[in-house]
Amino acid sequence: MGPVVNGGDGRGKECRSDAGELTARTEAGRRMVELAQEHAADFATRAADHDRDNTFVRENFEAMKASGFLAATAPQEFGGLGVSSLHDLVVAVSRLARGCPSTAIAANMHLGFVWSTARGWRAAAQPPPQLTMLLRLLGRGRIVVSHAGTEPGGGAISFPRTTAEPVPGGYRINGHKIFATNAEIAETVVVFLRVPDGAGWFNAGTAVVRTGTPGMTVERTWDALGMRGSGSHDIRFTDCVVGRDMVLVGRPLGEMATEWPGLLAVNFPLVAAYVGIAERAMSHVTELAVTRRQQPSGQLLADRAPVRSQVAEMAVELAVARATLGRAAEAIDAFLARPDAEVEPADAYRAIEDFQVAKLVVNRSAAAVVDRAMAVTGGQSYRTGHLLNRLYRDVRAGGFMQPYSPPEALEFVGRTALGLDPFDELRDSLASARAAAAAG
Ligand SMILES: Cc1cc2nc3c(=O)[nH]c(=O)nc-3n(C[C@H](O)[C@H](O)[C@H](O)COP(=O)(O)OP(=O)(O)OC[C@H]3O[C@@H](n4cnc5c(N)ncnc54)[C@H](O)[C@@H]3O)c2cc1C
Repeated sequence: MGPVVNGGDGRGKECRSDAGELTARTEAGRRMVELAQEHAADFATRAADHDRDNTFVRENFEAMKASGFLAATAPQEFGGLGVSSLHDLVVAVSRLARGCPSTAIAANMHLGFVWSTARGWRAAAQPPPQLTMLLRLLGRGRIVVSHAGTEPGGGAISFPRTTAEPVPGGYRINGHKIFATNAEIAETVVVFLRVPDGAGWFNAGTAVVRTGTPGMTVERTWDALGMRGSGSHDIRFTDCVVGRDMVLVGRPLGEMATEWPGLLAVNFPLVAAYVGIAERAMSHVTELAVTRRQQPSGQLLADRAPVRSQVAEMAVELAVARATLGRAAEAIDAFLARPDAEVEPADAYRAIEDFQVAKLVVNRSAAAVVDRAMAVTGGQSYRTGHLLNRLYRDVRAGGFMQPYSPPEALEFVGRTALGLDPFDELRDSLASARAAAAAG
């Protein structure tokens, strides 16, 4: 049988590895996605250097500040693009990841915070002046935000050990955070912590700490398998005093619910970075297969049935990942469109389930696509400096994007699928911890 394709000029165009890609639903989202694509082309030229040198993607942030991309989720009246659809943020993050996955997750940590600040501002009948001031800074792209949630020992969202103790005029913060993406350049760090309630237990809290505040130290510890450009360093707080207005005190630890919109905005779009990685691996292979001739036959890779079969499997995995992510993003947008006061726990559980299912599916599919891309490309892809070598390592961060770890995600989905309360055990653990605290 003769060659199925002839290769040469134009063949790559017919391969259309972008067919079936997710697209923005809103006008503002479309503009954001256009910017993401422009940035991705530029960031791709530096991604390998940052990976090799383990350096933060600093100049990419300068470019995203200059273009207005970092303010995309701020309302237009504050200078942003007014993107309010998480679906569209998801699409933009996936495009950015095609060029540089580290930048995609780092930008997302900032954009998610801007999104949730904007949502809080829109929902408030009379927004507090600090919120308006913060949005002004975010809308002008003046500050970059890092989210310090994770702590050694786990459980940082449900039971943070970092503590803000009330002192005259403010709070004194002590604790240790790890994996704080953007920490290297962030002017503002958003810290998940606990605040003593004066009765032996704690309320959940969020502090906004400006870089340079005495007692806050960024420790440059980040050196990881992948996502090496994300600067996900440790941050230590030692008697770090902040003003009263800088700490938002929430519900008692153990009472779920209100934090979910913010967590969804910051964490759910991270899943999209792994779709972007799979898309980049796919486009690498579809270009290679129609240009590389193998000796002794002189055939193009694409002329071989086993290669086409691998590419078909990749296309199927990618379609599954995109469809699951796109559907979850639309469902989560619908969930977030409802005022918090109207949301029942079951609605929040459903949104979290959509998030967890999408995360599990995308992480499996994206890793499988990269693995197959390496099989088609051959041993070259195993070498340090090869695109797929980096994507192979970057894609493996997907399972660690919280919440939840893969075993806990399965536990959550298993419980909700069986109609069981997903937070039973967590509530019991926190009730025991509370009883122990009360007993002194
Ligand atoms: C590239 C990268 C960037 C990141 N950026 C950020 C960031 O900007 N901000 C941030 O806050 N975090 C960030 N993280 C951290 C991430 O979100 C996770 O929180 C982090 O990886 C720690 O959680 P874990 O994976 O150890 O999972 P854990 O949830 O700690 O799970 C580890 C194990 O413990 C088990 N387990 C879970 N709960 C319990 C329990 N109650 N009892 C017993 N066992 C349990 C799980 O099943 C699993 O086997 C980042 C991580 C990576 C890899």
